[in-house]
Amino acid sequence: MHDDGSLAFPHDPWPLPPSEAEESELVAQRRDDISIRGRTGPIAEFEDEFKAFLDDRVEHAITFNSGTSALQAAYFALGARRGTAVLGPALTYHAALSPAFSLGADVLLADIEPDSRCISFDSAERVIAEANCRVLTVVHQWGRPADMHRATEFAEKHGLKLLEDCSHAHGSKYRGRPVGTFGDAAVFSLQANKAVFAGEGGILVTNDETVVDRATLVGHYRDRSRSQVHDPQLREYWSTGFGLKTRMSPFNAIVAKHSLHAFANRMKWRHQWLERLNSTLARTRNFEALDIPSEIDMGAWYGFKPLIRREAYETVGRDRIVEMMRARYMDVSAPSGGVLLDQPLYSSKTHTWTQAPAVAQTPASELSAAYDIAARALSFPTFHRPTDGSLIDHYDRELRTVDTAIERLKNV
Ligand SMILES: *Cc1c(COP(=O)(O)O)cnc(C)c1O
Repeated sequence: MHDDGSLAFPHDPWPLPPSEAEESELVAQRRDDISIRGRTGPIAEFEDEFKAFLDDRVEHAITFNSGTSALQAAYFALGARRGTAVLGPALTYHAALSPAFSLGADVLLADIEPDSRCISFDSAERVIAEANCRVLTVVHQWGRPADMHRATEFAEKHGLKLLEDCSHAHGSKYRGRPVGTFGDAAVFSLQANKAVFAGEGGILVTNDETVVDRATLVGHYRDRSRSQVHDPQLREYWSTGFGLKTRMSPFNAIVAKHSLHAFANRMKWRHQWLERLNSTLARTRNFEALDIPSEIDMGAWYGFKPLIRREAYETVGRDRIVEMMRARYMDVSAPSGGVLLDQPLYSSKTHTWTQAPAVAQTPASELSAAYDIAARALSFPTFHRPTDGSLIDHYDRELRTVDTAIERLKNV
C-alpha cells in the first residue's frame, strides 16, 4: 500500500501559518494599541478591503467577534423579535439560524434542494403558511450560491427581509456577482476553518442605513455608535448600545486582512483539485458528483460533499464505504452535523430564550431531502496548496478501486 508520509491525515493542514508581514504587524499592534477605538486602524482597513473584495457593491461592512455575533446583529437589524419567526434551511450549520432564538424569535425550517444543498423554495412555500415570518435566510451551502433569483422573488412575495449567510462562500458568485451583495444584509464568518479567517470573527455587509444603525448598536457601543449611528432616535443609545458588546479585536482584523490577501491564490489551487476530483467521481458507478451549473462560481469551494448512490448506500452502507476509503489513505469521513430539527435547541427550547415554541414546528416528513442528504453525503478533503499532483493521482486511482469493490459487494 501507499505508506508514503504525504498521505498522512490531514494531507494539507489548515489554517496556514502566518507570513512574516502578518507576524510583524501583530507585534506592532501589540506595542501600539490593544484597544478598539471605533472604526479605525486594522478594523477599518479590513472592512474597506472586504468591500473591495465584494466588487464595492456594498456600502457598509461591520466586523464582529464571530459569525454568530454578526448573525445575531443581522437578525436584530432585520426585525426578528418575540412573536416573529425567521425561515431557513434544515440542513446547514446551526449558527446560521440559531442566533434568532436569542432575540426571542422562532425558527422555521424548510427542506433543501438535493442538487444545490440550499433551501428549497417549494418547501419554504409550504411551511411559511401561518407564521409571522420576518426574515428569509439563504445559506450558500458548501460555497454553492443559492438561486438568488428565486430567493429575491420569494422574499418580495412574502414581505420578508433577505439575509445571506455567506460563511461557506467567500468568493462565490451567482451570474458573475459576488454572493453577499443580493440580500438586505449578508454575513461572512471569519472563523479559523473558513476560507478567509480572523481566528474568531465575522463581518456583516449591507447597503441599508437602518441595518447599519441597528447592527452597530448591537455590537459596538460608544465610539463607533457615536460616529456611525445616524437615526436620531437610535443615536440616543450610542453609549450603551442594547446591552451587548460583540465587536472584533484589532488582532483578529490583522489576521483577517492577511488571510484575505492570500485568498486568490489559495482558491485557484482548490478549484484545480476539486474540479478534477469531481470529474473522477462522475465516472464512478457508486458516487454522485456535484452538478455545477455554468451560472455559478464555487468561489472558495468550502466543502466537498458528494453523495453515495442510493443502491450502494442501502446495500453496503456509509460506514463501510468510509472505512474502505480510509484504509486506502483517503481522508474521507461522514460529514458532522445533522438535520437541525434533531437539535434540542430547535425541537424543545424549554431551557432557552424562547421558553416555548411560538411557531408550529415543521414536521420531519417535510424535510425528506435534508434527511436523505445527511445520510448519504461523504466529506472529502479540500486542498488549497500546490503539490506535485501525486496526491490527486492517488485519489483518482483509489476511488476507482473502491468503486469496483462496492460493485462486488452489491452483487453478493
Ligand atoms: C461557521 C458558520 C457560522 C458561524 O460562524 P462563527 O464565526 O463560527 O460564529 C454560521 N453559519 C455558517 C453557515 C457557518 O458555516
